[in-house]
Amino acid sequence: MTRLQCGITGSLPKPRWLSDPTAQLRADWMVAGEALPEAQDDAVRLAIADQVSAGLDIITDGEQRRRHYIWGFLEALEGVDAFHLGKKQTRGGRYTAELQNVARVVGEVRRAGPIFVDALKFAKRETDLPVKVTLPGPMTIVDSVVDEHYGDALPDLAMRFAGILNAEAKALAEAGADIVQFDEPAFNIDTDAVAEWGIATLERAAEGVATQRAVHICYGYGVPAVIAWKSRNQDWGHYGHTLPLLNESSIDQVSVECAASGVDVSVIQNLSRKRVMLGVISVSTDEVETAELVAQRIRAGLEYCDAERLMPCTDCGLVPRPRGVARAKMQALAAGTALVRDAL
Ligand code: ZN
Repeated sequence: MTRLQCGITGSLPKPRWLSDPTAQLRADWMVAGEALPEAQDDAVRLAIADQVSAGLDIITDGEQRRRHYIWGFLEALEGVDAFHLGKKQTRGGRYTAELQNVARVVGEVRRAGPIFVDALKFAKRETDLPVKVTLPGPMTIVDSVVDEHYGDALPDLAMRFAGILNAEAKALAEAGADIVQFDEPAFNIDTDAVAEWGIATLERAAEGVATQRAVHICYGYGVPAVIAWKSRNQDWGHYGHTLPLLNESSIDQVSVECAASGVDVSVIQNLSRKRVMLGVISVSTDEVETAELVAQRIRAGLEYCDAERLMPCTDCGLVPRPRGVARAKMQALAAGTALVRDAL
């Protein structure tokens, strides 16, 4: 296995001709009708070219076809309205008292057909490198929707979505996805709930998926409300509860945010049986890491994880950063990784 395979979490900023960059996480398309898929294809080509030229080993489509990392999946389902939005307290009210724009479950939720399979096939045609596809995890989905239909307890609603995610993940694996990643930032909120039902619903989503299965867990995007919370937060102990549970799970890769949080990198020693996507690039600031700083962070990770299993990564998605900064950060990620790899 290649030592220190590096890549990004998933998202990249979109070109301003595709969506308004000031909208950050919830972009409205600047292009309409038949021109939209063509524009998205072009944005994906650029996103892939930027990752390849930076020297990354694992490629994503930069989530250029998604308005938002959760809506991109939900808006393709029957029974979910991702356009007429509701209000909800999400993530335990940590970042914002109440979100004004969450999708609503309004009927029987069904996946009528493949959602990201064509997008994966397009990306695979654009690169020979391994391609990763991201999906929102079941716990994060149910934390991010208003249920106006089922009236289910959260674990039951999460299990419904896990079954739907599982069908999509299997289709992606069959179509050649090298990694299917479930994004579960909700795992860093209520760790008791993770133990009680979060791991079980993640396992259901990943069950029988014949490729590398990953989970991304972070302390949120680098947007002002999250950065403000991070600056006052004192408790970075969540991974200490969840990583030992994930080490016993069937998941192959686990991502851990270390660059911009107060998380001590030693916590990854709890992932002795897993590949570890180590966050060595902050997504909270436009300041670009030097290759030497990235290398230092990787060497710190190597104290607790061997080079075959360690995968240098960004803390989270780069979507809120300017495109030039995102490109420079990807170059720093690859350059820092190369410094350490050459010395091994
Ligand atoms: Zn994240």
